[in-house]
Amino acid sequence: MTATGEAPAQLPGACPRCRAATVQELSRSPVPDVWTVYICPTCRYAWRSTEPAENTDPDRYPEPFRLTPQQLSDLAVTPSVPLLRPSTPDT
Ligand SMILES: [Zn+2]
Repeated sequence: MTATGEAPAQLPGACPRCRAATVQELSRSPVPDVWTVYICPTCRYAWRSTEPAENTDPDRYPEPFRLTPQQLSDLAVTPSVPLLRPSTPDT
């Protein structure tokens, strides 16, 4: 039991998207034992335990959307937010 009285979650063995074994629990349903949200700290994929198998099972996750550690390091950098334009006086 945890400090909150909840039993520790049974964590998935691997991330569905990148297959990293470092899955963590992110959140639990307000009503106990309905769903759990997990997150992969490697690729930031998050999923709810009640989602279909193609979202939660590494062997059924769609191949075109899978990521490897090499692909993660080669991903494009997210563009930065441009600076605000200079303010113009009201007309
Ligand atoms: Zn992952």
